[in-house]
Amino acid sequence: MKTITVPEDMQKTALDLRRAGKRIGLVPTMGFLHEGHLSLVKLARQQADVVVLSIFVNPTQFGPNEDFSRYPRNFERDAALCQAAGVDIIFNPAPEAMYPAGYSVYVEENVLAKGLCGASRPGHFRGVLTVVAKLFNLVLPDVAVFGQKDAQQARLIQQMAHNLNFPIAILLAPIIRESNGLAMSSRNAYLAPAERREALCLQQALKTARRLYRAGERDARRIIAAMQAGIEQIPSARVDYIAIVDHDTLQPVAQLDTPVLVALAVSIGKTRLIDNLALPEDGLSHLPAMK
Ligand code: AMP
Repeated sequence: MKTITVPEDMQKTALDLRRAGKRIGLVPTMGFLHEGHLSLVKLARQQADVVVLSIFVNPTQFGPNEDFSRYPRNFERDAALCQAAGVDIIFNPAPEAMYPAGYSVYVEENVLAKGLCGASRPGHFRGVLTVVAKLFNLVLPDVAVFGQKDAQQARLIQQMAHNLNFPIAILLAPIIRESNGLAMSSRNAYLAPAERREALCLQQALKTARRLYRAGERDARRIIAAMQAGIEQIPSARVDYIAIVDHDTLQPVAQLDTPVLVALAVSIGKTRLIDNLALPEDGLSHLPAMK
């Protein structure tokens, strides 16, 4: 396994690999790796000869009052996990290398990015799309793998690849959860033990949605109200949004008659967590068996 930090070196390596006929798979991450990230590597391994995992805490996707400086980082541990998972190249550039002085070009999407996390994190997806476009041009992957955990992000990246004609297959990987059902996230490291238990209210709310849906409920407002009522039982939980949106357009629906995404963002204390469930279930956002 090799670590590359200089963007130009990454691109040259990628060009050499492609000239040698190798298929490149890319797994973009912000590091502090967990089983969710490693499941993406596994999928990439199945699709590519060479797997590149990028570790880059991307400053342009954090708002001024967000957690960029305290975002968890541990390169040594990440490198060991990558080695064990069969990553071939870690791409770990410095922020100044990705955004040198005078940097001024950004990728913006203005429809899918408006709602859900885009509404409460202005500029977030502009930062995400910009860095992913740069990674695509530096790593030159044939296939790139993203997690359904960040469903809006994944949808936006598919849209960017399609609209900007990136010749890259975008693969989605299912949400990986801890045994108690909490969706894995690097930000779970912020949670105190009591908060970890309280954080289960996100998946409980999704289970409420699923139970009502299975019982035949199709009214979005009623489902959202039931989810909200459950979360209100947890004093440390503050709802950012609970939404039921069309699976493709990400626009809110009144009735769950077509494939939808039930998505929520909730802060537990100071930690903002997200989770989602596709209905009807599509295998990408499995919840543990119903309790
Ligand atoms: P991050 O490091 O949080 O930016 O995530 C990097 C990639 O891993 C993104 O495509 C995420 O959607 C994906 N990811 C994060 N958490 C999970 C999870 N629990 N299950 C599956 N994929 C995940």
